[in-house]
Amino acid sequence: MEYPDAWLSKGNPWEFPRIERTVRVCFGGRTLMFNDELGNLRVKWVDTEDVLAVPYHTPVVGYKTDIVNTLQLWSARSSADFDLNYFNEGDYEHAVYSKVFSENISKILYPRDNSSQGKELRLRQEYFFTAASIADIIRRFKEENSDFTTFADKVAIQLNDTHPALAIVELMRILIDEENLDWDTVWDITVRTFGYTNHTVMSEALECWSVPMFERLLPRHMQLVYEINMRFLKDVAKRYPEDVDRLRRMSIIDEGYPNKVRMANLAIIGTHSINGVSELHSRLLKEQLFKDFYEFFPERFNNKTNGITQRRWLQKSNTNLSELITGAIGNKWVTDLYELEKLTALKDDSDFCKSWQEVKKANKKQLIEYIYKNTNICINPDSMFDVQVKRFHEYKRQFLFGLYIASQYLRVKNNPNARFIPRTFIVAGKAAPGYFMAKLVIKFINSIADVVNSDKAIGDKLKVIFLENYRVSLAERIFSASDLSEQISTAGTEASGTGCMKFMMNGALTIGTYDGANIEIAEAVGKDNIIIFGLRLEEIEKILASGYNPQDYIKRSMVLKEIIGLIQNNFFSPDQPNLFAPLLDSLFCGDRYFVCADFDDYCAKQEEASRLYADKNEWTKKSIINVAKSGRFSSDRTIKEYAKDIWNVPCVHP
Ligand SMILES: *Cc1c(COP(=O)(O)O)cnc(C)c1O
Repeated sequence: MEYPDAWLSKGNPWEFPRIERTVRVCFGGRTLMFNDELGNLRVKWVDTEDVLAVPYHTPVVGYKTDIVNTLQLWSARSSADFDLNYFNEGDYEHAVYSKVFSENISKILYPRDNSSQGKELRLRQEYFFTAASIADIIRRFKEENSDFTTFADKVAIQLNDTHPALAIVELMRILIDEENLDWDTVWDITVRTFGYTNHTVMSEALECWSVPMFERLLPRHMQLVYEINMRFLKDVAKRYPEDVDRLRRMSIIDEGYPNKVRMANLAIIGTHSINGVSELHSRLLKEQLFKDFYEFFPERFNNKTNGITQRRWLQKSNTNLSELITGAIGNKWVTDLYELEKLTALKDDSDFCKSWQEVKKANKKQLIEYIYKNTNICINPDSMFDVQVKRFHEYKRQFLFGLYIASQYLRVKNNPNARFIPRTFIVAGKAAPGYFMAKLVIKFINSIADVVNSDKAIGDKLKVIFLENYRVSLAERIFSASDLSEQISTAGTEASGTGCMKFMMNGALTIGTYDGANIEIAEAVGKDNIIIFGLRLEEIEKILASGYNPQDYIKRSMVLKEIIGLIQNNFFSPDQPNLFAPLLDSLFCGDRYFVCADFDDYCAKQEEASRLYADKNEWTKKSIINVAKSGRFSSDRTIKEYAKDIWNVPCVHP
């Protein structure tokens, strides 16, 4: 179930409206060609429907510096409060229609993760926020400058995914139509100003807008896109004569029914830097997703591995560990996370290790209380907290985790007297409202939880907890109390992941695939301090080339066969027969995310995790090493790299 988060219903004391800096954003209308006094051909965008963008400022205070940045958010306001003509005729609904319609632009956040719906309101939003920000940037530039050829030296704009990629075209439009500069000058300024960060290789996330819709909403931008595309394709044709397929692939326009505007192609062509968010992801961009573009613009491609801020994810959210660390090595780690390396020496100090264990225990007690308050379930504090928290998506394979949890239930049922390392499985995350399979996996995990948690014979050995409304404030409670971090995406699908870094920084060990930032975590801690399982990307590619048959793997796995049988017999959904059939069908019909192929190795490596956990002292050493080696995953490092390599701005040392 979804409920709205009415975050403004009681006002927001941290924000300041700046009504005097309201800007006008235009939609629709048509373009008009004319000759100016000098006889130059010019274009005007006329008969538009306008919406006002009102900025709200939130000060963002630097940590122990005298610097305060400004977060600027935009709210849509109608440019005409209501239509007096309709009002006077008594048609009150019609009179306010345009007001309601235009103010809807900034009302909702599209809930899908890693996917694009291609909806008109979304395109309107993307242009609205983009155009408002570009207008504001140009206003600021003009306050102190008159020569636009210096624009790219004063302004750097980083496109956070393709969502604001229209900014490329909007800057072109203003500099050409309103500032009257020539194409080549403007194109040079634009490319030098923009950088583009790609965040996913999922094909469903690549934004493609239908040309008829784009043209109706932004007729002038459509012309500019065609012109950008034509000039670019001419250059490509020069380098690759007669390679029509290559031109088709690299074109901003995807020719189909209808034609589409490919925003990723625009973002690559219109920027001087294109980066992925982990080493593997950046390599995949070059070798697969954007291969043609890498061949054409090799110098534009680079990597910026994601990071997280230790001020929130360690200092604020894990005060117990934070104080232990500062007591041992001082507090320089708060602004230089590489300082944590000094903890390595303490892994053999038995007093320090004991304190480390006590901190984890205290944090687990706090989470146990939260869980009891919210679910009425009692948790065994000595059990291993085995945690998967992230948005629900098939590629992240919460279903694989669910299957493993089911296998452990079966195991305890089948061997009630065998030695078993107790576990508490904790899952949290949201699914997009219309994402049927993701919602069904949530239901599946909750159904397993109902069976396991109410089975008296299981006792203290197993509990399954699904925590509702996963969000940053809940996440802050979870990472500090975790023992095992589940990072089990199919190799090649998770661009980076940042949850993995939060767990690591809080002393959890990772069980994960060779994917995204997991690879860099493995390199940092060494293979004895992480549990890696499953097919590597090259192995998946090999299997795909010869044809993947999930049945081959199901046949070979006793455990997987047994769980599938249980689901088919509605063991977890006695009142709703066949409820989970779509999940099984996804395995039988292609198993796009290689759940069957990875299942047995996952279970085997989970056994290794249990064995390790049983040796408290060894586990503690590995936990300390994980925190000690987390320095590279500070967002301070990431942001410094963006500043130096892409924006060409010096760091400020107050
Ligand atoms: C860190 C974080 C994420 C990202 O998690 P991944 O495991 O990298 O997908 C998502 N949601 C919240 C609330 C987070 O704190």
